[in-house]
Amino acid sequence: MSDFDFHALILAAGQGSRLGGTPKQYRQLQGRDIWLYAVLALASHSACRGGVIVCPDGEEAYHAAKLAEYQLNHWMAVTGGAERQDSVKAGLEQLAATKPSAVFIHDAARPFLPRDMIDRMLDLYHQHPPHKQTDGQITDPNMIKAIVPALPPGDSLKTVNNNQVTGQIDREQVIRVQTPQLFHFDTIYELHQCFSGAGFTDDSSLAEEAGIPVHVIEGDPRTFKITTESDWIMAQMMAPAQTMTSRVGFGYDVHRFEETHDTDQNTQIMLCGIAIDHDQAVIAHSDGDVGLHALTDAILGAIGDGDIGTHFPPSDEKWRHASSDLFLIDACRRLAENSGKLVNCDITIIAEAPKVLPHRDAMVEKLAELTGLDQNAVSVKATTSEGMGFIGHKLGLAAHAVVSVLLPVSGIEQ
Ligand code: MG
Repeated sequence: MSDFDFHALILAAGQGSRLGGTPKQYRQLQGRDIWLYAVLALASHSACRGGVIVCPDGEEAYHAAKLAEYQLNHWMAVTGGAERQDSVKAGLEQLAATKPSAVFIHDAARPFLPRDMIDRMLDLYHQHPPHKQTDGQITDPNMIKAIVPALPPGDSLKTVNNNQVTGQIDREQVIRVQTPQLFHFDTIYELHQCFSGAGFTDDSSLAEEAGIPVHVIEGDPRTFKITTESDWIMAQMMAPAQTMTSRVGFGYDVHRFEETHDTDQNTQIMLCGIAIDHDQAVIAHSDGDVGLHALTDAILGAIGDGDIGTHFPPSDEKWRHASSDLFLIDACRRLAENSGKLVNCDITIIAEAPKVLPHRDAMVEKLAELTGLDQNAVSVKATTSEGMGFIGHKLGLAAHAVVSVLLPVSGIEQ
């Protein structure tokens, strides 16, 4: 590893009791777990060689799956300990195997890490980077082993007792220390072994305790820690909306009516999920619902994932007489797997008979139920073929469907 590489250690093992409810690192900001913001901010830096996310006992598989989802192949989920310091120690021990040169240690509850702050810390670190000592090598006396970002207190600082001010504190003498904190890896690793269980609330305190200089750079107010409900409101306002791109999908389906046309015959056909009395049955492997088939193909088309036949081949006896609800629900699941969102659907049924209008409200309601769309985003229209062609001659019926979907723009820089 070069001296200019770093690894990251993100702490998400705390329970966030002050906010109550869901631990704050699992709250969703713009549809993404808070802890992922910090991971992605550091992982997307060109000098980052990997990292660990330290999580509560039992949550490792969830975190590992999320890391895999974002293709963070050099990251691992590590089980945290009872106290913050135990969790850091566990993470450092996992990282030690990869022999990092430097490590950023960061609290996941600070989701916003401006790139320029990371770069300022790295720039300072690289001015006097610690080198591994070998016999006879003179160590740089100015070497930097620990850097913290910090901000001046914005307000006047007072001492207080029983809600009465008892004095003031010179603001020049104090700073507010943030994370991420940057350390020479071997140094902070040894400090955590040495001071194990000492209960320090941040990692620079261990360096101070050992007499190692802790260098300060200007922090960033955006890197605040989400602790209270008002912090949470602020974070929601700051989180960038996920960039989505719109896609359109089109589907078409046609099914033949049975040739026997007996006006006394009383049968049913399925259309947009609704059973309708008709005097002709539909010939189909499944229930032959052209509306649902066209809509399913439109959704699959929008995400470039084949068509109904790809996923439910007619050659498979399993799908004989299958309710077409299944196909549509599966397409919606595939869309959701891509973090996509259906915006609207517009279906046109082409048939001489049966009449669609009396069933349109029921169809819209059914389609809204199956897709999760609001009813006003579902359209079902119908037309005849004016007596022309195979539809006009009542040989069959057809449906066209168009959908619009939103899909996230991929990439970990999001
Ligand atoms: Mg079909």
